Amino acid sequence: MNNYSKIEINLIEWFNKNKEPWFFRKDRTPYKVWISEVALHQTRINAALEPLKRFLTIYPNVHSLAKSTEEKVMNAFRGLGYYNRAKNLLRGAVYLEKYYDGIFPDTFEELIKIPSIGSYTAAAILSICFQKKIGVLDGNVKRILSRLLFIEKEINDISFIKTCEKFQNSLFSQIKLNSGDLNEAFMELGQKICTPKNPDCDNCPISDFCFAQKKNKQNILPIRKTKKENITVDWHFFILHYENKFLIQKYNSFCFLKHHWGFPSFSSFENSNENKYSFDNINELTFLKKNNYIESKSLKPIKHSITHHKITMHTNILNLNKVIKNNENLLWVNENEITKYLTASAMIKVWRAFKNN
Ligand code: SF4
Repeated sequence: MNNYSKIEINLIEWFNKNKEPWFFRKDRTPYKVWISEVALHQTRINAALEPLKRFLTIYPNVHSLAKSTEEKVMNAFRGLGYYNRAKNLLRGAVYLEKYYDGIFPDTFEELIKIPSIGSYTAAAILSICFQKKIGVLDGNVKRILSRLLFIEKEINDISFIKTCEKFQNSLFSQIKLNSGDLNEAFMELGQKICTPKNPDCDNCPISDFCFAQKKNKQNILPIRKTKKENITVDWHFFILHYENKFLIQKYNSFCFLKHHWGFPSFSSFENSNENKYSFDNINELTFLKKNNYIESKSLKPIKHSITHHKITMHTNILNLNKVIKNNENLLWVNENEITKYLTASAMIKVWRAFKNN
């Protein structure tokens, strides 16, 4: 038996004993694999389970997703981060309906043409649902392979990827067991054993084949580019209400948000004197200058992070004495409807702070 076969057998044995009974692992249709791989990518699985369950309940198949709207899909995707993913899922479903009657193709070339399906998700669908012998190369697998094969190259370097792919091609070309299980075994090993810091090599089923462990250099791999420095931001929100209605605006293009509904706001960045406003035309919000409100109040600041931006969110509540007219970017909504519109996690935090104050 060669080393590839031993790695395969050891990993699958380990996986069968240790795999998590996550609900999305039952009844593995390409649709469910697609949605769960996209939604869980680079997210903490436990925190994403409930939102994912909700999404799959609202949209159980390609057809239901394809006939929905962007706003509804983004709302159903709340709690799963990165809203561009939600929009791309909708585009993907529409594409599948149009070109494949909602049925997934089973070739890599066709799958990666579908919006939101990249090589990682295509490989997951092909191996898990169609038993194709193809390896998934996500962040977990890259970390394992950097150590297993002792690759001293930056993790996104083309030569790093090529080395990983060469290894996966050899491994998967001779696989005897289930290729979907082997991919999931790698991914789960990365979550539980070969973790970013202090990997648990004593309990690793493939430690006999690991060059980094032999050299005792597992903690220096993988090699990553140095991180961008943090930027401090103050983000000021205005919760404007008149009787039982609240004013929200469409964020067409703002530093952190695009195509979301939320409370009007502006942000100031460290090392910059210029504020960025969520509204294009300050005259839309003249109440800020004219004291056109009955009372105002500020909430305790809230901390939030978006990539390398360390944000302090300041919430100002203004009780207006008249309604500002709606336009395509401004909308008054009843209190009990507001959560249907708020999809960005920053806005949800602000709204929760308001409700709890
Ligand atoms: S032996 Fe350690 S470093 Fe190597 S693959 Fe296993 S957990 Fe990762």
